[in-house]
Amino acid sequence: MLITPSRLPGVGFVINPYIGCGFGCKYCYAKFMAKFVAGKYGLSDNVNNLQRSWGNWVIPKVDDVNNFGQELKKKQKKLQGKKVLLSSVTDPYQPKEAQFKLTRKMLETWLNTQANVQLEILTRSALILRDLDLLKKLALQTQNIETAGLTVGVSISVIPKNRFREIEPYAPLPNVRINVLKTLKAAGINVYAFIAPVWPGEIEQLKELVSTLRAYSVPIYYIELLNKTARRYFKVEFSKREVVEIRRLEGVIRVIEH
Ligand code: SF4
Repeated sequence: MLITPSRLPGVGFVINPYIGCGFGCKYCYAKFMAKFVAGKYGLSDNVNNLQRSWGNWVIPKVDDVNNFGQELKKKQKKLQGKKVLLSSVTDPYQPKEAQFKLTRKMLETWLNTQANVQLEILTRSALILRDLDLLKKLALQTQNIETAGLTVGVSISVIPKNRFREIEPYAPLPNVRINVLKTLKAAGINVYAFIAPVWPGEIEQLKELVSTLRAYSVPIYYIELLNKTARRYFKVEFSKREVVEIRRLEGVIRVIEH
């Protein structure tokens, strides 16, 4: 079963075609997923070890994706008028997707079943451009249906440049992600930027990114500050002045603070 109800604000259902994420971001909030796979799939039964090695193990949900068409048909009524987010605790275009093509298969199923839902894809990967053909078709198929549609969000982090590979060992560089947004937008896909996480002390880099996105007319839905657990782990903290300045940035729909 892939389509599961969600408690995320404004999101009805989520789909996660993988457990784990090969981008292995050190601050990733989804590391808790390790407890669901500990001792299974040939993995260690030590949850802490699995969390420490986050990024080095990924479980593809091959059977669930093979049954996705049936699941979609069964749940189609429930999905009407609700937003479906792909994905919430993994990246649907992480490196393993190049091999398994699970996200691509799901998009094909979506098209073939003419599932008229509001689909939102959230990624930080340039691999999404491999599926531009399907995304364009999906956008076209749903453009005049009020309860349906396609939006693609690309997350871009603002972290110290000299620590980038320490913190995001395998994720694409921010410039690559900006180019993904530009390419998708030029292809007629509805896009938005999700700036996350923002590292303490990086306000100038953040401002630069916000003005670059504005120059390309890319809407910025959210800015998410580095969460408390990660701030404690990395021994960094925001100053009050910095937070006020971030809240005042123009053209941002919501600043998420934890
Ligand atoms: S890309 Fe997202 S899901 Fe993957 S490790 Fe980074 S923060 Fe976690």
